[in-house]
Amino acid sequence: MIIAVDGPAASGKGTIARALAAHYGVHHLDTGLLYRAVGVMVSRNGGNPDDPDDALAACDFPDELLHDMELRSEEAGPLASRVSRHPGVRAALLERQRAFAGQPGGAVLDGRDIGTVIAPDADAKLFVTASVDVRARRRHAELAATSLESIAAEIAARDKRDSERADAPLRQADDADLLDTSDLSIGAAVQRAIALVDARLQARP
Ligand code: C5P
Repeated sequence: MIIAVDGPAASGKGTIARALAAHYGVHHLDTGLLYRAVGVMVSRNGGNPDDPDDALAACDFPDELLHDMELRSEEAGPLASRVSRHPGVRAALLERQRAFAGQPGGAVLDGRDIGTVIAPDADAKLFVTASVDVRARRRHAELAATSLESIAAEIAARDKRDSERADAPLRQADDADLLDTSDLSIGAAVQRAIALVDARLQARP
């Protein structure tokens, strides 16, 4: 069973994906971490994230980097978004994600292109979103040191870059269920996500 969870930054998709994995007893992969690892590696190498060759060279990052807290930093998100535009980077990370999705028992993957590119035949697909205002407020609660305005501007810029890139842009798959978490608590959003996935699983031939 493969469940694809896509959506923009701070929409709640990571929390929902983790809760779904626990509920259905399958493994979870936060694919954003792979792009964050490439972005951080380029920066450590002194390279330019907008240069396709520098970004590609950073794709053989060591696995331990995936556990580095620097990947969760505020700087890592925009770096990831910049390297993720290069088709070579997306191709380099594709097999790893497909292999995870295809493991026995199934998996939940969250990202931007899981339902459209990585696992187009997923059993259930959610597109999790929320208004920019709500997403900025959520991030601000975690990063109190940064102003709400600058967080909102960074989120809007990242949405634009991720949605307008040519290769695997952020978009809702035609057969994905939309889940807007703007006015939902975490618990309510998770319950809704489980109900949507259950309905898809029951409708399988
Ligand atoms: O989800 P997260 O904020 O960790 O993702 C960081 C960046 O990585 C995103 O803004 C996006 O540019 C990129 N990404 C992607 N495809 C994915 C997951 C993340 O392009 N499947």
